[in-house]
Amino acid sequence: MGWSCATAGILQRPGLPDLDLWTLSGRLLGHELRQGCRSALWRQVARRQLWYLDGLDPDAGIDLDAALSFMKHKGADALSDYEMGVLRSVLTGGVRPQSRLFKAGLVESATCPLCQAAEGTLGHLFWECRCTAALRRELPPAVVQAAQNGTLPRCLTRCGIVCEPPEVREAGGWLAAAAPGQEQLLGQWRLRVSQQAWYRGGRLVIATDGACWNQQLGWARRAGLGIYVGPRCGNLSAALPGMDQCSGRAELLAIILVFAEAGRLGLQVEILTDYECAAKAWAAWSGGPSFHPREQLDLWRRLEPLARAALAAGSALTWVAAHGRAAREQELRWNKLVDDLVVQGSKRHTGLQRLTQAIRLKEANQEKAQAVQRHMVRGRAGGGGGRGRGERPWKRQRAAAVAVEGRS
Ligand SMILES: [Zn+2]
Repeated sequence: MGWSCATAGILQRPGLPDLDLWTLSGRLLGHELRQGCRSALWRQVARRQLWYLDGLDPDAGIDLDAALSFMKHKGADALSDYEMGVLRSVLTGGVRPQSRLFKAGLVESATCPLCQAAEGTLGHLFWECRCTAALRRELPPAVVQAAQNGTLPRCLTRCGIVCEPPEVREAGGWLAAAAPGQEQLLGQWRLRVSQQAWYRGGRLVIATDGACWNQQLGWARRAGLGIYVGPRCGNLSAALPGMDQCSGRAELLAIILVFAEAGRLGLQVEILTDYECAAKAWAAWSGGPSFHPREQLDLWRRLEPLARAALAAGSALTWVAAHGRAAREQELRWNKLVDDLVVQGSKRHTGLQRLTQAIRLKEANQEKAQAVQRHMVRGRAGGGGGRGRGERPWKRQRAAAVAVEGRS
């Protein structure tokens, strides 16, 4: 994969941010390893210069989401088993048009069997043949024109494969370069209290929260965290630092920050959180049923001693079910205010504009791939160079040719 390990625990990757094995979660490491293997395989494939992968960007690889979206497409116009097989053979370069059958000596002419007017290549079948023109009319005219002009990569026009936008690959890099590191954030934030802070049972009530945007798109996830102490207090709104972006990490980091500061200042606090795991852990540390987190272990390890110290000092943690009726009015107000901080915090990530642009490119890829693939499946299923498993006209043609040769 071209990765190296110069310092213990730090993996260096060409063109990508370093991976710190000491802090990286198993989930994220697994993801990065899979991605690394995939890229290495693409580079290997690209070196073989396969005709149907012409135009493939070996570094970025293919846009898997876009390439497979039509296959996963559900609904009334979902692919039948037969069409699915056709799509698979299109995607893998397994389609044998007339020209290739001729080259293999399986048919006696390379001429397109549909129109009889030109060589029956894949490019002809999908983009030029007048017999498949009706199918092309359903495509955006710009796509057809670009395919005919040769300005679309061959991997797309012959196999329906679209490349991953390079912006997507870069997205990970911005994360590593952006936002202060976790340690820095821990050291910077100070718990400051004003006259308008809210006390309950002698404890300063503080709402914490974390949230993550684009949760569905692994590479585009951006999390933020918030701490709301009260009006004119030292509230916090920050982007979650680090490559592992998820709401759980943001929630935990916010709680860690509050307990660390409460401990430093010798304050009793009551944390309001809608993070259920934190409430379960707190109950466990208070002597309730045990709780074993499976992810974000680095942060849980960090939180536990701070939380136990806070517990001993008389602090509390209250779970506020979001929109729950049981929650008191002021709890909901604090919860709403911390929510606003989280939204602002997640917007502090750098490169957000480019991220949005990359997401749009991915969506455009998906639409383009689906349209082109649908066209190819219909064109291929409809005729030209054989009809797939079971019906093989070229076999009949070859048998006829052999019979003719035998007679002469
Ligand atoms: Zn034709």
